[in-house]
Amino acid sequence: MTDSPRQAPMPATLRAGRPPRHPALAIRCPHCSAAADMRCTTRTGRTRIQRLAPCDARLEAHATAHAEATAVCPDCQVAPGTPCRKPNGRPLGDIHPARRIEAGDAA
Ligand SMILES: [Zn+2]
Ligand SMILES: [Zn+2]
Repeated sequence: MTDSPRQAPMPATLRAGRPPRHPALAIRCPHCSAAADMRCTTRTGRTRIQRLAPCDARLEAHATAHAEATAVCPDCQVAPGTPCRKPNGRPLGDIHPARRIEAGDAA
């Protein structure tokens, strides 16, 4: 009779051993064209290498999307979820820098 377990149950910390996904991966990378939820890649010769960190452009795009989704723009006064607009009411095509600061994404 043996009461020593042959296989200990796997601790939850080990099962969740993968590092948390970077929030910027939720959007497509405008730099290397990695799809949403895919890691950024870099071309070296014929192969595509997965990068551990998202491209700067992807981080930038994510910060912009995050600010647009969550912050009221102090500059053009649009509500969260609404794109920034110019004083003439036309879309700005980007967000005002003040909005990104408002969103608390100073990085
Ligand atoms: Zn990328
Ligand atoms: Zn704005």
